[in-house]
Amino acid sequence: AKGLGKNQICFYSEEMGLQLVRKMELEKDLQLALENNQFFIMYQPKWNVKTNSLVGFEALIRWQHPRLGLVAPGEFIQIAEGTGLIVPMTKWALEQACRQCKEWQSQGLQQPVSVNLSVRLFQNDSLQELVQNVLDKFELAPHLLELEITESMVLYDINDIIRQLQGLRELGVRVSMDDFGTGYSSIGLLDRLPIDALKLDRLFTNDLENPSKRAVINAIIMMANNLQLDIIAEGVENQEHIDLLARLGCYVMQGYYYGEPMREAEIHEWVRTNEH
Ligand code: C2E
Ligand code: CA
Ligand code: CA
Ligand code: CA
Repeated sequence: AKGLGKNQICFYSEEMGLQLVRKMELEKDLQLALENNQFFIMYQPKWNVKTNSLVGFEALIRWQHPRLGLVAPGEFIQIAEGTGLIVPMTKWALEQACRQCKEWQSQGLQQPVSVNLSVRLFQNDSLQELVQNVLDKFELAPHLLELEITESMVLYDINDIIRQLQGLRELGVRVSMDDFGTGYSSIGLLDRLPIDALKLDRLFTNDLENPSKRAVINAIIMMANNLQLDIIAEGVENQEHIDLLARLGCYVMQGYYYGEPMREAEIHEWVRTNEH
């Protein structure tokens, strides 16, 4: 038993060492990833089950590392937030998404695109200007752009954030609260936040069988209705999810059931297959 314990200690420290090495390597390589064109965007459809129609796409960033292969955003977004690289990365992602959305328009796809906005972007004074410039550059109508923010912003100067959110909405873009109900709670601020929609985190969707969790989801949906916020469920993977969510009054959904994040080139095929 003693020997095993020792081995386990060795195993864990080696594992931790490897993780640290990987993290340091990613941090170093991330500096060059943007200029070396190693990022690309995948798009995931959002579906309205009431109207049975496509209502938008979310842009999700990917990093094709030359040696490590595809690295998940879960691994590098946090690093990018720490180093500040998140700002130029987001500008790049916004440009890609707006360019793509403009192209869809010309091809008859009318749906908006949404882009994830780290709270770090709000520490940049010129967020409104940044977004306006990207819209101008691609001549995209503002209502076709949605920005997804997270509740972690409650940790910052909330009056400043509210002012900046108002600035964004004055441009005509939509704002939604991502991962709602996880992490920091923004519930006490919800009536003050100038936002258009709540995105129910996929943890809720996964817990729909649980009656007490379902009560919480039900309450969130009713609150969203009362505050005149749209609601969209994430992580919808099967028909049971769809039935339960629709019964609770949530009709807009995103998840593997409808489509996984896709490359630009795959979108048209997906649209053709899902047309009615
Ligand atoms: P998120 O914004 O909550 O994005 C949804 C994540 O759930 C995506 O993971 C998506 O692939 C995954 N997903 C979608 N449907 C399902 C499903 O039915 N089941 C399951 N199990 N998962 C599903 P992804 O692409 O790995 O992104 C992870 C997170 O990384 C995102 O979470 C977002 O917070 C962040 N992220 C991604 N792209 C960007 C970006 O351009 N900027 C910023 N700031 N963050 C980003
Ligand atoms: Ca999101
Ligand atoms: Ca989310
Ligand atoms: Ca999430």
